[in-house]
Amino acid sequence: MNDTTIREKKSKLYELYDAFAESARPFTGMAVCKVGCADCCTSVGDVGATTLEGFLILEHIRTRFSAGQKELSKRLKQNRKDREVSKLARCAFLQKDNTCAVYQFRPFSCRRLYSLKQCGESGPMVHRQVWDLAREIEASIQAVDDTGYSGHLSHILQILSDAGFLKTYLEGGFSPDDISEYALKHNIIINRFVKH
Ligand code: SF4
Ligand code: SF4
Repeated sequence: MNDTTIREKKSKLYELYDAFAESARPFTGMAVCKVGCADCCTSVGDVGATTLEGFLILEHIRTRFSAGQKELSKRLKQNRKDREVSKLARCAFLQKDNTCAVYQFRPFSCRRLYSLKQCGESGPMVHRQVWDLAREIEASIQAVDDTGYSGHLSHILQILSDAGFLKTYLEGGFSPDDISEYALKHNIIINRFVKH
């Protein structure tokens, strides 16, 4: 996958984000969500991402967070450890003021989330129509990223940190055997094999 292909895929991804936002607006307009409200980024959310979304975040953090990369790696490592024991934990990208450090590049799993009441421990309350639409959009995003994978953001970023994997991915290669052990251990989905 060369630069052009990545750009094309990014463009399709953002079209899907926009299509979701537009169709969901009559419902999400009723949400109680506001800046600094972040239960969905700490305890009730499960931050999933595709490799395409992970790659865009990676590019962003490499250019914007050169000074804070060590701290970020530490937090991502902690996220992975927490997942080993099925613990829901604070997202590595959630800043001290409860805002998202990668808001512009946040994955669809964050974009689809809203709630009609304060989440607290019980989780979000969403409309069934939006939930169903989100599942369709999620499948379309996986279809766009058809040489990629989906899983928890911290695991997807870990896979992308492997230079060999990244080279294959960016060249448009598809070699699931290379990550099969890690994928099995961490519930990584092969996008191409998702039934749409
Ligand atoms: S989804 Fe829930 S926790 Fe997240 S911003 Fe909305 S109300 Fe707050
Ligand atoms: S990526 Fe941003 S919006 Fe998504 S869970 Fe993390 S802090 Fe929240």
